[in-house]
Amino acid sequence: MSHLSVAKFGGTSVANYAAMQSCAKIVMADPNTRVVILSASAGVTNLLVALANGCEKEERESLVNQVRQIQYNILNELKNAAVLREEIDRLLDNIESLSDAASLATSPALIDEIISHGEMMSTLIFVEVLRELGANSTWVDVRTLVATNDNYGKAAPNDELTQQNCDRVLKPLIERGDLVITQGFIGRAPNGKTTTLGRGGSDYSAALIAEVLKADDVLIWTDVAGIYTTDPRIAPAAQKIDTMSFAEAAEMATFGAKVLHPATLLPAVRSNIPVYVGSSKAPEQGGTWVTRDPQPRPLFRAIALRRDQTLLTLSSLSMLHAQGFLANVFNILAKYKISVDTITTSEVSVALTLDKTGSASSGAELLSNELLAELSETSSVKVDTGLSLVALIGNDLHVAAGVAKRLFGTIAEYNVRMISYGASTNNICLLVQSEHADEVVRKLHQELFE
Ligand code: ADP
Ligand code: ASP
Ligand code: MG
Repeated sequence: MSHLSVAKFGGTSVANYAAMQSCAKIVMADPNTRVVILSASAGVTNLLVALANGCEKEERESLVNQVRQIQYNILNELKNAAVLREEIDRLLDNIESLSDAASLATSPALIDEIISHGEMMSTLIFVEVLRELGANSTWVDVRTLVATNDNYGKAAPNDELTQQNCDRVLKPLIERGDLVITQGFIGRAPNGKTTTLGRGGSDYSAALIAEVLKADDVLIWTDVAGIYTTDPRIAPAAQKIDTMSFAEAAEMATFGAKVLHPATLLPAVRSNIPVYVGSSKAPEQGGTWVTRDPQPRPLFRAIALRRDQTLLTLSSLSMLHAQGFLANVFNILAKYKISVDTITTSEVSVALTLDKTGSASSGAELLSNELLAELSETSSVKVDTGLSLVALIGNDLHVAAGVAKRLFGTIAEYNVRMISYGASTNNICLLVQSEHADEVVRKLHQELFE
């Protein structure tokens, strides 16, 4: 088979009719793109999450109406929407009755069932948008492809089963020349129920499907023309990066650059599949290629920002000359499926930030009272919030002289609550007050990139 690309379009790219048309044109202009993965139209998943967590009747009606309005606005622009309208209405009715059930008693499985409707609707509509522009495509329910475990809200894919499903269902379609449209973000648990991969998970879906298809590349079409030296919304002077390595992009995604879901690079790295990031609104502006070993490898590559961080400080005199304290703490955190992100230790205390990336679809808080109670049995526990993690991403940062001086000199006026430096060759992390975070990013960006 000739070159095979898997394309993914995010929420803003399918937010309305005009945006969907731009996506359709991108797909039609590129004969290599045979599989298209879509997110829900912008705003829809947030509304569905609110519904799925349960709310009063009046609120429910208002939320369902907002979802309906987003989808109807697109349907109203289509010339031949009658059949599709019935299908979308059926899904909207479904959302309504499932949300009624959720308001009585919700569950992680029900939450995933409800929020999966967003991607179902956007993909059905997109098939019609393509048809009106003259392209036939085949709609596939991604639950017949992506198999996961039953960790609802942040399910992990079952690679072997997903491979088998794709070999059976997807490959024959592609081999006969179909253009396949399917959903990101969603999977199926062993018991047949719908799962989701965590917020922003459509990027991950695209990379997973590209991997099992042995595709030549993954094209992530979004609302920015590539990966920038920092979030252009924070620092308008941010510059587009033409090529970067998997390792650099993975660090950026992990440390908050929302442009890629943190897990996206896993399949790409495993199977050495280049990832392209470009703007669906302005494809002519070009984008970023993420590959295994591009040159050059600059000392400073980018700055990422992760807001809303929680710092846990655990202090205990029994840590002094003792063994097993950290093991104990980590066991408790693992039991609650929490992964630690950055960590510093002293003689009698340990401070750590919790990894919120790729957080559960339900938006549930990481720190539960049960977890805090269990940790309190090992030590005194202090929880600090209102913090943000600023990560400087680069290459060989740990061996370059003068990096710390330059970094701290630039942001000398701000209080740095915690530093993580040395574990990775690719990053230096600083925890700062959230109200200073944007300013810290802009200052560092100006010093290191402008
Ligand atoms: P999509 O809906 O297409 O998945 P997202 O909103 O998830 O899009 O990701 C795109 C956004 O990521 C951009 O609008 C931008 O604000 C943000 N972003 C954060 N860091 C970066 C970065 N370094 N380069 C580009 N975009 C970034
Ligand atoms: N629609 C989902 C979300 O908003 C998945 C995605 O957009 O990638 O999180
Ligand atoms: Mg995204």
